[in-house]
Amino acid sequence: MGDPIPTQRELMAQEYDAIHNRLFVIQILLVAALLAVYQFSGASAMLSNGLSARFGEQLWYVTNAAYTAITVFGFAACMFLLSYYSSHVLERHYELSSETFGEWFGDFVKSLLIDIALATLLFSVIYALLRWMPNWWWLFASVFYILFAIVLSTLLPLVIMPLFHKFEPLEEGNLTTAVLQMMDEAGIQVEGVYKWGMDARTNAANAAFSGVGRTKRIVLSDTLLTGYSHEEILAILAHEVGHYKNHDTARLMLTSSVLALLGFYISHLVLTQLSGALGFAHIFDIGAAPLFMFSLFIFSLVSMPFANMHSRRREFAADAYAIQKTGSADALVSAFEKLAEQNLSNKEPAAWVEFLLHSHPSIARRIERARER
Ligand SMILES: [Zn+2]
Repeated sequence: MGDPIPTQRELMAQEYDAIHNRLFVIQILLVAALLAVYQFSGASAMLSNGLSARFGEQLWYVTNAAYTAITVFGFAACMFLLSYYSSHVLERHYELSSETFGEWFGDFVKSLLIDIALATLLFSVIYALLRWMPNWWWLFASVFYILFAIVLSTLLPLVIMPLFHKFEPLEEGNLTTAVLQMMDEAGIQVEGVYKWGMDARTNAANAAFSGVGRTKRIVLSDTLLTGYSHEEILAILAHEVGHYKNHDTARLMLTSSVLALLGFYISHLVLTQLSGALGFAHIFDIGAAPLFMFSLFIFSLVSMPFANMHSRRREFAADAYAIQKTGSADALVSAFEKLAEQNLSNKEPAAWVEFLLHSHPSIARRIERARER
């Protein structure tokens, strides 16, 4: 299919992809090493004991919250160079971003503060559950985790995303009318169509439904609005409608619930087996949190290929819906070509890389399937 000789841009995309895969491996090794050092050097126990001595046994939840905040900050500090290289240096080198260091750093600090707040809330609740119901905490922690994810996805477009990007209602016109008509036909209530201001910062293009329920809105990046035909934009949105019609959010929620339940249960087994051996009197001692995080981390790595396999199937199903709805694969295929070109995606990654790491099928496979329909 297509030109057998890769273009300059395609070669660059392959190179960019290879660097990302290497960075991914480095990141895994670094996280595992940091967790091991934190746990086995006694630094984690020292921090939790120090905080506990300062706040007293009565205020255990303050100790837990402070421990989490300090730990997340410490990890981000240790990973700083890697974050800087992968999300700033590399992006600028490949001309995917035109952000200055100051702009990048501002966003980095903002997202770190959000991470610290969210992790502190999550771990405070999980560690309270560990204390109150040492045998059944994993069950309640899974329920809490899913509720937390639902609330977060509701708040994301309203509170968090505007901190990083500018959103403004898309002006009335043919496109807005066509988008709203498509949503109406699909029976999807949306709060509005928005322009997602990116071009000042990044050259990547994107379109999405964001939010759930009453906060659901359509966001189209300005890079998409300037570079794509209405047919292409509508084909991309029809794919999103496909996800909605196929109940993919509910499916995702179900898979996440099962994975959360399994992950927390395995952590429960690990903590009950090993926290004593590491010198902790109770499984709810936050000093053993690196062990807890390590088991969740390993579980997420092992389960990732399965979650990705499920996700890739849902992507193909949404593509099929879009093609059936728009009556032709042409617009979707040309949108894929443009997106790959613009976002510098490797159209044909190695099969094993796609199997292990990618939540979306490769552009080459999506085009091939679309052409078969
Ligand atoms: Zn999709």
